[in-house]
Amino acid sequence: MDIHEHQAKEILANFGVPVPQGGIAFTPEQAVFRLRELGSERCVVKAQVHSGGRGEAGGVKVCNGEAEVREFASSLFGTKLVTKQTDAQGKRVDRIWVEEASQIERELYLGFVLDRKSERIMIVASGHGGMEIEDLAEEDPESLIRMVLDPAVGLAEYQARELAFKLGLEGAQISQMVAVLKACYRAYRDMDAMMVEINPLVVCADGSLVALDAKMSFDTNALFRRPEVANLRDPGQEDPRESFAADHGLAYVGLDGDIGCIINGAGLAMASMDMIQLAGGEPANFLDIGGGASPERVCQAFRTVLSDPNVSVILVNIFAGINRCDWIANGVIKAFEEIRIQLPVVVRLSGTNVEAGRRLIRESGLPIISADTLEEAAKAAVQARQQPIAAE
Ligand code: GDP
Ligand code: MN
Repeated sequence: MDIHEHQAKEILANFGVPVPQGGIAFTPEQAVFRLRELGSERCVVKAQVHSGGRGEAGGVKVCNGEAEVREFASSLFGTKLVTKQTDAQGKRVDRIWVEEASQIERELYLGFVLDRKSERIMIVASGHGGMEIEDLAEEDPESLIRMVLDPAVGLAEYQARELAFKLGLEGAQISQMVAVLKACYRAYRDMDAMMVEINPLVVCADGSLVALDAKMSFDTNALFRRPEVANLRDPGQEDPRESFAADHGLAYVGLDGDIGCIINGAGLAMASMDMIQLAGGEPANFLDIGGGASPERVCQAFRTVLSDPNVSVILVNIFAGINRCDWIANGVIKAFEEIRIQLPVVVRLSGTNVEAGRRLIRESGLPIISADTLEEAAKAAVQARQQPIAAE
């Protein structure tokens, strides 16, 4: 789960990372009020969207005076910011952050990520911040410093100092950098983060270190024990299909095709998407209904898939281990009863209670296309989308 820059800054500041003074605004008037609070003429106005690359996309501006803040804020609210990291739709700007301007001397890059290979937290840093990490890795790979942290020790003092030296910091900046690194590490570990990124972390004209930007994302599987993090969620920044699914305990990722998928198990879901493509189709989504799916959950899965207007056929593919085919079948039948489904539905059941499940589907009298194998099911779905069933 991603959060906004201003939220990440607040969290990191609580752990001891120096950030600029600033305030959030939901209207141009509030933005002007924030400028007055800062007590200066110069400030930076920043669109708050779940994406980087806002600077290049015109979502960040150094402003002088109230008129300029009001004008820039007015031009941002309600628009969709399209950055290198968003899709063509972009992300809606509903809030902006107004902060004191900084005098930048040097821009550094600092990131904490989960290194899946070593199964440990890794620090990635560079003396050439400001750019995105992908561009840095391409244009200046030499500048990238990587450091893997031992979970039993945490971030050792000597490691933090070594990193500060490698970044070319001197004097008092070394101890400031050590403090920033330790704060980020604690924030990452204590809040079940998956990523903490400060880009740029700047050296100001007066020699102080300040986090000008901040990004954090969190492990969704740990949100149950981090209500304070879960509360920071902004559904306005999410794919509405994905928010609906998350609210119903389904693992769902929206895609661009038109074949809606309701599948159990991430592996089978991936395999089904491959089979669909092999049969000449494109999946509209990845959806894993998980184990022990009740008829209600199956029904919610139908609602989720149908909330995507691009869907022209639904493929249900279940290999029941913990699941039971009769429950799944009852869920499919329930979905037909509760939702007006006007699209062809292909169902392939296999595994626990398969006979009972297939019988339920057969005897339901519903226009369901049954398939025995995954291959058959994928082909049937691709075919069925060309022949929509007649409306009742
Ligand atoms: P991003 O483009 O979404 O990563 O947004 P950033 O917060 O990183 O802002 C983009 C760029 O704006 C930064 O790399 C800085 O160069 C610039 N910027 C941000 N804050 C300030 C500031 O206080 N003063 C000045 N002069 N530039 C700033
Ligand atoms: Mn940035």
